[in-house]
Amino acid sequence: MRVMVTGGSGFIGSAVCRLLCVDGMAVVNVDKLTYAANPRSLDTISNDPNYAFERADVCERGAIDAIFSKYSPTAVVHLAAESHVDRSITGAAAFINTNVIGSFQLLEAARYYYSRLTPDRRAQFRFVHVSTDEVYGSLGEKGRFFEDTPYQPSSPYSASKAASDHLAHAWFRTYGLPVIVSNCSNNYGPYQFPEKLIPLIILNAIEGKQLPVYGQGSNIRDWLYVDDHAEGLIALLRRGRPGEKYNFGGDCERTNLAVVELICDILDRTVPGPHLRRSLIRFVTDRPGHDQRYAIDASKAHRELGWTPRNTFEDGIERTIDWYLENRAWWEPSRAKVYKGERLGLAEA
Ligand code: NAD
Repeated sequence: MRVMVTGGSGFIGSAVCRLLCVDGMAVVNVDKLTYAANPRSLDTISNDPNYAFERADVCERGAIDAIFSKYSPTAVVHLAAESHVDRSITGAAAFINTNVIGSFQLLEAARYYYSRLTPDRRAQFRFVHVSTDEVYGSLGEKGRFFEDTPYQPSSPYSASKAASDHLAHAWFRTYGLPVIVSNCSNNYGPYQFPEKLIPLIILNAIEGKQLPVYGQGSNIRDWLYVDDHAEGLIALLRRGRPGEKYNFGGDCERTNLAVVELICDILDRTVPGPHLRRSLIRFVTDRPGHDQRYAIDASKAHRELGWTPRNTFEDGIERTIDWYLENRAWWEPSRAKVYKGERLGLAEA
């Protein structure tokens, strides 16, 4: 089995590539290497004969056709995307290009490739389209997202992902491409670019910098350890039913403030600083259109895929903090050159 992973130099994509290689499967990682990519995330597999890398933009149909024909993949796991909500507020164009147009071009390239496969290889082929729970919009105090929850995206990011989910499903209904859509809650773990909440807070807290918390920190996310998500996506390749959607979540709701305070307390215990880290917390202007609460019902994935997350939030966050402490060479260049921690996404004209 050879899997084409798009966005394999990003946070979740690199976890999928590493896990596929450990499982002895061949991988071709197709990545444009945007600011969010870090080739060092693949250091542990870059010399594995089962691993190949192609630098390409999913919007470039000719390049993607050539990669399909060079590698003849058995499956595609499509993760390439612009992924940061705050950046989508400041500049939506890249999100529309990659997430909507790029997904369309990839689906078309996959359809062309699939139509020329032998019946045996067609029966095996899968296209896993990786999406987010943010397409469902915001929850109040009660309730959870199910696979049939109507879409109500709030941000340019989630709207672009919603558009691509609809395209992916239409390519199944109209053309019979064996597409499976996954909608996952917020991921955290090693190798996450330090613009997202958890790595930003860990690194600022390590360096004794202020810890920005949007609004009152009351927004709730349902956190999932990244390797648990990667296992879920591989389970989808093996046991997911084409044409179906599957929700993944950690059953682990926390307010943003509780997450930040936990990170402070763990770092105070492991690497004590001159002051308690909670004193670095600063409440800052909220994100425009900030969704209040996300919570996933993942019972379909438990039931049909036999998938359950292995990591509790408390274990996963300790492991994540240890990883950032031990892997400065991975994050220091990004912090110095790519993103220094400045505020993004305030929707100024
Ligand atoms: P990321 O930003 O860390 O990585 C994205 C990768 O895609 C990068 O390596 C980047 O270079 C690549 N890329 C971007 N544009 C490209 C293009 N035009 N062509 C080829 N490659 C391109 O993102 P992530 O957090 O790993 O998310 C991966 C996927 O999972 C995304 O589709 C995202 O919407 C989805 N998702 C993320 C989360 C989360 O919490 N991070 C949760 C649910 C779903």
